[in-house]
Amino acid sequence: LTNEMRAAMPLIEKLETEGHEAVFVGGAVRDAVLGLPVHDIDIATSALPEQVMALFPKCIPTGLQHGTVTVVHEGLTYEVTTYRTESGYEQFRKPSSVAFVQSLDEDLLRRDFTMNAMAIRQSGSVYDPYDGLADIGQSRLRCVGNAGDRLQEDALRMLRAVRFLGAYGLRPVPSLWRGLRMNKALLRHIAMERVQAELDKMLSSDTPERALAWLGASGLWADFKEPVPSRLMMRIQASAGGEGFEMAELGRLKHLDERWAAALLSLQAGEGDARELLIRLKLPNKRIGLIVTMLQLHAEIAPLVKTGDMEGLRAAWLEGILRFGEEAAGHWIHVAQILESHADPLPPAVAHRLSLLMKEMPVKSLKQLAISGNDLQQALSRKAGPWMSAMLKRLLYAAAAGEVANEQDKLIELSILWNEEGTYHE
Ligand code: ATP
Ligand code: MG
Repeated sequence: LTNEMRAAMPLIEKLETEGHEAVFVGGAVRDAVLGLPVHDIDIATSALPEQVMALFPKCIPTGLQHGTVTVVHEGLTYEVTTYRTESGYEQFRKPSSVAFVQSLDEDLLRRDFTMNAMAIRQSGSVYDPYDGLADIGQSRLRCVGNAGDRLQEDALRMLRAVRFLGAYGLRPVPSLWRGLRMNKALLRHIAMERVQAELDKMLSSDTPERALAWLGASGLWADFKEPVPSRLMMRIQASAGGEGFEMAELGRLKHLDERWAAALLSLQAGEGDARELLIRLKLPNKRIGLIVTMLQLHAEIAPLVKTGDMEGLRAAWLEGILRFGEEAAGHWIHVAQILESHADPLPPAVAHRLSLLMKEMPVKSLKQLAISGNDLQQALSRKAGPWMSAMLKRLLYAAAAGEVANEQDKLIELSILWNEEGTYHE
């Protein structure tokens, strides 16, 4: 029993004292058995949802039709779900009906993989009717029952399989591997939001590159409801076939979107293809913006790093920071350092220099510039116009590069000079 399970024990005890059965199930049991940190604790019980609700004062009827009640206990929430079976899977996903049952074996039977179909009882003993422990011991991933049938019931299980293979360093048993290869076209029935959620979870594990390798090897990428842009698809296939495109060690990055950017750069995805893929996956615009910005920065900066053009590099870097912002630039530095050689990685010494340059920049955005468009208009007695933003940008760059102090009178002086040169007569 883990500490998290001990904290949840009063719920199990209460249900059991009232004459019901209650056990820990799902991912928490799997992770506890593997000695890994446990996040969400799920409890399964023979008690019906209304009986559960009657026993616990603080609860939320999260999904009553599926038998799920969220119980709040000492500030933490637990999902308590009535033993159930599922049937009538429609369109290769959610079941059309669930039936509450009294048998734990039946409840475990509906679960996807043997390692997810174990329970831990109040005593701490593991109940394992489908031999999940043996499969874990052999580092194998196996469906509960017939793999083909189980993947056809719910095609999302194929992506879950790939995620578990990667996260736990498993191999699929032959029947599961056949099942994945034969049923991958059913992924077309899965909404892209759910695909995205699984990909995010794959990328959030300690070893995302393993899940991505399984995704490529199984060919699942090719059958999303909305297709992966074709050039990118070809790269993924080439990489799955062992031809180059070694994936960076994504687990070294802390930030999820840095991992996305590093994966896309490893595949040498162009900005257009990357954006298209992320839009199809329905990532929020803000995340798409950040990821694509990292790719843009890479496209602009990496070639200068390669040629060793230090002056050009400095100028492009300052411009990049001003254009895309300090935050995105900081993320890109993390990403670029872990790339493999084919993707033009940033050597540590250069990364250090760029970080320092960024840190020492006296101004990093227009907001920080000691002069506004209005100030310029007055100082130069000119009508408002596009010249203002052009001049502000040039002043910003000059201040950022340390060519002029970020003080109003110095900036005005410079703008008068430029104005007399006549560069801003639009
Ligand atoms: P994690 O929470 O680490 O992502 P998990 O296995 O706990 O992994 P959840 O989505 O929290 O995944 O589901 C809890 C349990 O419900 C699973 O362990 C499994 O027993 C069952 N389960 C979840 N999704 C499915 C599915 N699509 N088909 C069959 N069983 C499922
Ligand atoms: Mg879980």
